[in-house]
Formats: sequence, C-alpha cells, structure tokens
Amino acid sequence: MSKNPLPSTLLEAVRYFSDLDVATEYVAKLRWPSGPVCPNCGGLDHSFLKTRRIWKCKACKKQFSVKVGTIFEDSALGLDKWLPAIWLAANSKNGISSYELARALGVTQKSAWFMLHRIRLAMQAKSFNKFSGEVEIDETYIGGLARNMHKSVRKQKISGTGGTNKAKVFGMIERGGIVRAEVVPDVKRSTLQKRIRESIEPGSSIYTDRMHSYIGLDADYDHRVVDHMECYVDGRVHTNYMENFWSLLKRGLHGTYVSVQPFHLFRYLDERMFTFNMRELDDYGRFANVMQAVAGRRVTYAELIGQA
Ligand SMILES: [Zn+2]
Repeated sequence: MSKNPLPSTLLEAVRYFSDLDVATEYVAKLRWPSGPVCPNCGGLDHSFLKTRRIWKCKACKKQFSVKVGTIFEDSALGLDKWLPAIWLAANSKNGISSYELARALGVTQKSAWFMLHRIRLAMQAKSFNKFSGEVEIDETYIGGLARNMHKSVRKQKISGTGGTNKAKVFGMIERGGIVRAEVVPDVKRSTLQKRIRESIEPGSSIYTDRMHSYIGLDADYDHRVVDHMECYVDGRVHTNYMENFWSLLKRGLHGTYVSVQPFHLFRYLDERMFTFNMRELDDYGRFANVMQAVAGRRVTYAELIGQA
C-alpha cells in the first residue's frame, strides 16, 4: 500500500486516488488480500504489466485487470473517477444526483448516472440477522398526493382510493440497531406479516400503528399499538426511529432527485438505508464499506434500465 496515510476527506480522496497506481493497488488489496487470482481459471501465478496495470495469468495466458468481475467492469472510466464517485455517494447525507456527480468529476451526466446505479448496487444490504429486542414497524407511501398529508388523513384517503399510484414502502428498525426497508406490492396483512415473521424473532417487542394489517401479531410478539391521534407518546410505545428514517428517505427523494422512476425506487431506498445504518462510521469507514462490497458485483446497463 502507498506510504501516504489513507484519505479522510473528499479532497484527500480525490488527490490520493488520482494516482492510478495507488488506486489500482488499493482495489487489488481489497479484492485479493492474499494476492491476485485469475478470474478465468483461478490461477495464482501471474506477471504484472506495470504500464497497463494488468496481470497475465501464467496458467491460462489470459490477461485481467482489477476491474474484471466488479461494478467497474466494462467501464471506460478509470479508478481515479470511480473511487471519488464512491466516496461522494457513500458520504452524501441526502443522496447525490447524477448531475452533481457529473460536475464534480468532469464526466457526462449519462456516465455519472451509470456509475451511481452501479454504486447503489454495491450498497445493497446483504444478509441480515433476525431482529430482536424492541422493533419499530411502519409503512409509508411515496409519490402522488400522499406526500404532504398527515399520516392519519393519508391512510383514510389511501384506503379509500386503493393508493394504487403510490409506491408502498415497508420498514422495520431494531432500536439501537439497523433499519431494513423495502418496496412492497401492497400492505395487506399476509404481505406484511410474512415479512415481519421472517425478520423478527418471536417474543420480541414490536411497535406499529393501528393499521388492520398488523392485527394478530400478538400471538407471537409483545405487540403495542401507537395511536397517532393522541397528543402524547406513551413511553416506549412509538415509531419515532422509523419515522426519522422515512424523513431521511423523503428528503433525499424530493430534495435531490429530479424524478424517480418507480423501477429505480428500491435502489434509492438501498442508498438511504446504507447512509442510515452506517451513520456511526466516519467518511473513510463508509467509503471502505462500499469498497468491500464492490468486488464480484456486476450489473449491465441493460439490466439497470430494465431491458435485460
Ligand atoms: Zn488463468
């Protein structure tokens, strides 16, 4: 690794990774902690072509770069653009738009859009342990009329009209732990309770609003219902942490992004979950966390725009 200390600010990151040898070595160490492995045959014996920053496998004679098999694959942009882009995406509180990223890096908006979508893929939360202890559960609606309505009014309107134009997002947060949220097809009892039972240990304390879909959970959980019509919050019976997460999500959606296609909503959701769940880390920590996930993740342009 380079003798220079690791970067702790955006400016330092841009400087640090502007040296392609340093950037390549950084990614190579993360991908292959015990030395490069040929992605074609698994061979460990190779020569390094320093001027082109590629390896040549002695077993199968194929050449490979550090980008092969990662989100960087088949991108003409260098790691000197990619790594600062990841730094920016990992550390932006409300999300970064492709326009902002394009300006910051000096690339086209289309390139920046493509980079951001690949980076979001790397930010997707992977496996979760089951939640336990105290868990807040809530649902929210994205888009259309529901945006500025009070929650209780919104629910009546939505149950009246079916809420079909709005994306439905369901979330759970373990107090003192992480949030897990996803776009759901509907908020029916079977849909939500299946997710709850898959995600939360029986016997845990759970807090929800009064929606009918939550009825019956008290067979397996210590289920307490939050009454939003009351002016006060009854001790521990609240969903304030979950609501904080919805605020963060909606700030990102309405403040930063020009528009969000429903198809892409789940990716923005992943990004906001990442920010929320990694809030205790410093900037380098969040960057390194995304970088750990980068190797092995690959999505094509066609898959991103839903044509694959
Ligand atoms: Zn090989």
